[in-house]
Amino acid sequence: MRSMEVQKKILLVLGLLFVVFIVPLVCFSLFYPKFRVQNFEDTVTLNYKNPYQMASGNVCYGTVFHCQEVSVSQEGSVDTDRLGEYKITYQYTYQDKVYTKEQTVMVVDKEPPTLVVNDEKLIYCPNGKMPTYSYTATDNYDGDLTDKVTVQLEKGQVLFSVEDSSGNRTFFRRDAMAIDESKPDISLNGDSVVYIPLNGTYEELGASASDFCDGDLTSQIKITGEVDVTQAGEYQLTYSVVDSSGNENSVARTVYVYRNNDYTAPSGKSIYLTFDDGPGPYTEKLLDILKKYNVKATFFVTNQGLTKNYDSIILRAYQEGHTIGLHSDSHSYSIYTNTKTYFDDLYAIQAKVKRITGSTSTIIRFPGGSSNTISKSYDGGSRIMSQLALAVEAKGFRYFDWNISSGDAGETTDTNQIVKNVVSKLGNGSTYMVLQHDIKSYSVDAVESIIQYGLVNGYVFRPITMDTPTVHHHINN
Ligand code: ZN
Repeated sequence: MRSMEVQKKILLVLGLLFVVFIVPLVCFSLFYPKFRVQNFEDTVTLNYKNPYQMASGNVCYGTVFHCQEVSVSQEGSVDTDRLGEYKITYQYTYQDKVYTKEQTVMVVDKEPPTLVVNDEKLIYCPNGKMPTYSYTATDNYDGDLTDKVTVQLEKGQVLFSVEDSSGNRTFFRRDAMAIDESKPDISLNGDSVVYIPLNGTYEELGASASDFCDGDLTSQIKITGEVDVTQAGEYQLTYSVVDSSGNENSVARTVYVYRNNDYTAPSGKSIYLTFDDGPGPYTEKLLDILKKYNVKATFFVTNQGLTKNYDSIILRAYQEGHTIGLHSDSHSYSIYTNTKTYFDDLYAIQAKVKRITGSTSTIIRFPGGSSNTISKSYDGGSRIMSQLALAVEAKGFRYFDWNISSGDAGETTDTNQIVKNVVSKLGNGSTYMVLQHDIKSYSVDAVESIIQYGLVNGYVFRPITMDTPTVHHHINN
């Protein structure tokens, strides 16, 4: 019985509490007017580039039963093209009083980068070294991320991975094969064609080799072949290297051991190097080259001393055994006006050479060669070249044209081309007369290669003498 009374008392207290506290609270919340903000979130998360919509028209003042909309204005803006946190302040006014409410907008990037691997088959070195694979990575926010890609080898697979600036990560995994298919690179130190005088010294400069998988393989290079400097001839040296996977590569060097030029040797294939229009600034260099190979040549000189005194060079050439031929004193084509103008000019250069060398030269080359037609512009139709060809011989001169033009008079300024122009025309004939100009550096630079080629291929270089076989062009005027 007592317990029933206790229960009654408890219920009574609870009922009183309900009436005194809860009922007024509910009434108060339903009937007391206040601001009611609907659909408003304090924090909004927005994906990059998605439009932000302002919360609007959702504030009212009043009770649950009757609520009057109030006007709302907002301050601040959201740039959805830029990641970050933005604050928007909403203001609403009621009965001249301003109220504010703040919203935080987070613009975030949740899209991971796109990673594309272009290689269909991935390989790597047996020692684990990876080649450069082909791939691209692009991100909606960061753009090109290709150089941020990390590449790792993991249990026979290549793992590509890239992360954007918001920490979104993309992985790509592909099976790979351990195989080395690439040959080592091997390259010679020094020239691939080397010329050595008989009984000279051959210095082995070796080669260097590197391999993608194995790295430097220079010490593994094997050289086969030998050079016998006591025997003139052509020698072939082969440099080969094999990488740890058996890929092989080799390069070759040709060594020519040549006999020094002996211009007094009888008959055979003869080359007459001739240089017109000098002396000039490159003539001394040319003389040094000729000396090195004991080659004697012919200089058809002009009176360049008018502007610079080259007398000592003419003297040096003469003293070193070269032939000083006569080209022209003035090198003006007006010398072809008549025979007198021609011989006045010829005797002037002859006298000059005599004064320098003490010797009277009777070996000549016509400016433009005996085949020139430019003389037609000066001779008034007298066929001056036909006259001169006879006249010079009658006066005890011998004239020489050429049968190999180096092309240095306008056709080319390329030294290698000049060498090619000359050596390509050398055959098994007995007399090759080469036209070059020692006032052109690119032509002088070709001389050493021409000499080396000639010596290796059994030619003798000779200076023109009064006994040299005739080399004449067809006369066109
Ligand atoms: Zn000339």
